[in-house]
Amino acid sequence: MNILHITPNSVAEELDIKAGDKLIGFDGKDKVDFIDYQYYSSQEEFVMSIQQDGDIVDFEIVKSVEEDLGLEFEDNIAIKQCRNKCAFCFIDQNPPNVRKSLHIKDDDYRMSVVSGNFITLTNLKEEDYTRIISYGLSPLYVSVHSTDTATRQKLLGNLKAKPVLPILEMLHAHGIVIHAQIVYCPTINEDYVKSIKELSPFVKSTAIVPLGLTKYSKNGLVPVTKDMSIKVVQDIEELQKQGYKAYCGDEFYFKAELELPDYESYDDFEQISNGVGIVRQFDREFDEQLAEVDKLKGKYTIITGTLATDLMKGIASKCNAKGATVQVITAKSLFFGGDVSCAGLVTGGDIISACQGIDLSTQDKVIIPKTMLKEFEDIFLDDMLLSQVEQAIGHAITVSAVDGVALLEHMM
Ligand code: SF4
Repeated sequence: MNILHITPNSVAEELDIKAGDKLIGFDGKDKVDFIDYQYYSSQEEFVMSIQQDGDIVDFEIVKSVEEDLGLEFEDNIAIKQCRNKCAFCFIDQNPPNVRKSLHIKDDDYRMSVVSGNFITLTNLKEEDYTRIISYGLSPLYVSVHSTDTATRQKLLGNLKAKPVLPILEMLHAHGIVIHAQIVYCPTINEDYVKSIKELSPFVKSTAIVPLGLTKYSKNGLVPVTKDMSIKVVQDIEELQKQGYKAYCGDEFYFKAELELPDYESYDDFEQISNGVGIVRQFDREFDEQLAEVDKLKGKYTIITGTLATDLMKGIASKCNAKGATVQVITAKSLFFGGDVSCAGLVTGGDIISACQGIDLSTQDKVIIPKTMLKEFEDIFLDDMLLSQVEQAIGHAITVSAVDGVALLEHMM
């Protein structure tokens, strides 16, 4: 692994390891990746082999668990690709000519641990399971969809997918914490209640989220309707009453036009990365922060997707009651179309369309959530640059982190 940067005052700096050197291995083991690095970073005694100017130097490290090794690597991780052909795969529903990175179908257990990505366990080898267990890689986020093997194979488009319950049982027995998800595809996995019950001994939580269809979907899947959403919400709330750790994605409540559950009913918000409880959490953070503020001033425009519009309108009226003038603009997803509604899939072009005919010149700030942009870059999913969108709407754009505290700070 090529070392890009050394953190000041770290173990690596003390050892005179330099950017440009190479991490070769730990404890005599070569072929290491960022998971090995993470594991050894939290160990106290080990040997770290570094290639410096063509020589391999073995450093005997003795440090505290908390002490940072201080290595940063070039971002050239070979991500493990998925072997499935899910009928509902969002990547296959991309508009033509989207950038290459939007075609990457990752199914990498390492990214599940690091970033909470959902994986299917269909591409894991024996050695991967050994590694997960020996390093205690936890929690893992697993796309189950159905505990019935034939139904799961159909949804994954993969007849080689092995029965998932014995695998989860084995991981659970070794102390690996698992959060499961079911993507609800009407008429296909109507067995979700049974699946949640069967999963419960082995997983910490199960979330059910609706499939998303763009206007480019070709698989003839049935869209999730209001009535279907009402039924899913009722079924899950009944399971919760019976003590199951099952949660509905916020989208079901919006589609069902039902009030979201209380903040408390999301427990530890363990499925937040799956959009489960994000509205309640955002609202709570915002309210707590707003309670500390006597007065607000200024004019602000918040741009969001269809899904978060009501949340943002509620936030706007709370700010307006404290003296600010906040308006909300809904940017519909014209780029993806279909029933795509989340802010993270709003593009630069969608923002320009939504702002057409609206005079933003009097606004102090025009605010968008960070999720609309590529990570670490000011570029939207349609490859428009932030600066191009600013030019088109005639106003600078403020990019806010997706939390209530950050949003309020932009209005103070
Ligand atoms: S597992 Fe399914 S949904 Fe995920 S990337 Fe692969 S094909 Fe797409």
